[in-house]
Amino acid sequence: MKNFKTLKEYFIKYKWRYIGGLFALVIVNVLQLFIPRIIKYAIDDITQGGVVRAHLIKYALWIVGLALVVTFFRFFWRYFIAGVAIRIQEALRNRLFSHLQILGLKFFRDHRIGDLMAHFTNDMNAVRRTLGFGTVMIVDISVLGSLSFVFMLFISVKLTLYAIIPLPLITLVALRFAKLIHKRFGNVQASFSELTASARESIEGIRVMRAYNQQEGELDKFKEQTQEYVDKNISLLRVWSGFFPLIFFLANLTICIVLWFGGKETILKTISLGDFVAFQAYLGTLVWPIMAIGIVINLLQRGAASMGRINKLLDTVPEIVDSKQKTGDREEINGEIEFRGVSFAYNGTEVLKDINLSVKPGESLGIAGPVGSGKSTLVSLISRLFDPTNGEIRMDGTPIKEIPLSTLRKSIGFVPQDSFLFSDTIRANIGFGRSEVSDSEIYRVAKLARIYDEIMQLPNKFDEIVGERGVTLSGGQCQRLAIARAILVNPKILVIDNALSSVDIEKEREILNDLQKKFADRVLIIISHRIRSLAGLNHIIVLEQGEIKESGTHEELLSLRGVYFNLFRYQELE
Ligand code: ADP
Repeated sequence: MKNFKTLKEYFIKYKWRYIGGLFALVIVNVLQLFIPRIIKYAIDDITQGGVVRAHLIKYALWIVGLALVVTFFRFFWRYFIAGVAIRIQEALRNRLFSHLQILGLKFFRDHRIGDLMAHFTNDMNAVRRTLGFGTVMIVDISVLGSLSFVFMLFISVKLTLYAIIPLPLITLVALRFAKLIHKRFGNVQASFSELTASARESIEGIRVMRAYNQQEGELDKFKEQTQEYVDKNISLLRVWSGFFPLIFFLANLTICIVLWFGGKETILKTISLGDFVAFQAYLGTLVWPIMAIGIVINLLQRGAASMGRINKLLDTVPEIVDSKQKTGDREEINGEIEFRGVSFAYNGTEVLKDINLSVKPGESLGIAGPVGSGKSTLVSLISRLFDPTNGEIRMDGTPIKEIPLSTLRKSIGFVPQDSFLFSDTIRANIGFGRSEVSDSEIYRVAKLARIYDEIMQLPNKFDEIVGERGVTLSGGQCQRLAIARAILVNPKILVIDNALSSVDIEKEREILNDLQKKFADRVLIIISHRIRSLAGLNHIIVLEQGEIKESGTHEELLSLRGVYFNLFRYQELE
């Protein structure tokens, strides 16, 4: 139960709706128990003779009246209790989503996207069902169950004791079936996600599949998976099909017992015929709460387990947070960067070793080096996607840990190797992260990124949808869109991490020349595999196995005749 403590604030927020719903449910439970009582009076009147039509009409009107009030309150308990459950689920989902936003990249490396999605769907639904159905069942068990039991005792203690003999069996059967159904339903879900994941992969990889002529193989695999999905569904269906018939059988068993013993008592006139009929009705009402005990135990266990998983995510502390001694509410930085003896390790494997460097506003830095030498890692430390394992990074002389993360990140324009485009218009993709941006600004950055002319040739120009649901842009076009997106933010520091690799070298150089002019008073950091693209930058470092092996201007580095010289010569020869 303590797992549900997280939801306390929401219960407080919606307490009146919740209390209203519970109140309506209790009224429904109590009122519906009076209907058999009225039937009892009517039957007793009839059997005793002397009943007049007016009496019967009076009983009928009572029943109709009660039924109307019950209908009215039934609407409200559903509306309020289910409504609160949905609202709480929504609030919890938003809270989890916003928590994921602040978690660091390490977290996303350690968790699969599919697993995270399951928390948003399966776990959230389990919590909602517990709050909704679970509450209703607990009230039904305690109010409807205990009151019908009391009404039965009221009619005949002995008969009640006989009648309840098979009832624990109903609870046990319900519990067993609820567990089985849950397990098999889980299998169906797992098989369905396998099926969709593999269908998705086949469609995404259709080109490779055709190129390797693997259609047949894929089709067989798919057929196998659909068959498995059908099998899992049938196995679930088998349990479902057995559930209600078995419950009805046990319920009918109790009716037989009551018919036998109750019939005898009626004949002996220990109870009236009206009592006998009412008793059967109460017994019918009692079956549901008895069955609900079994179902609710399972539901609560599942809800608590799901809530536990959600709590675990909510309790995950982001590894990168604003420091306690951050420099007030600093909103601007100039962009002077200094690395002092910085080292960094991913899970114990050191990938950067004792990096010392400094870049001032108005300077440009190039980073060269073989694949895996630590270039991307180095620039990701500047915007604190990770924190150094050793050493310190300073910005304008202040340790970056003391600069608010929001200030730091808004001052850095970062274009990663593989930029992500959202399924939205080109305009929205360029303007991403900016609430108000004019067309002229969008056009200006598109021109700077040398993508404007190509966009204007698309049928819908800047309103063309890109991403998964839109037109497919070439790798180079995506990269230039990403560059436009980063320039639009007007950052103090612009980092381009190999993000022009799919653009032809001439265009890359044009773009970089323009950017150098535009960023003449700021910091420009460029990682590129093409040495030629770095040639015009103020300062270049060469990384190898996480260490700065060489540094200087293009000419200085060439004259060293070392790693840089060899890389350059090799590329020129190519
Ligand atoms: P580069 O940009 O020069 O190609 P990276 O900075 O991407 O190099 O990678 C440096 C080293 O760190 C490589 O050995 C790479 O395998 C490793 N690495 C990069 N990213 C991760 C990560 N998220 N988790 C673990 N190791 C990583």
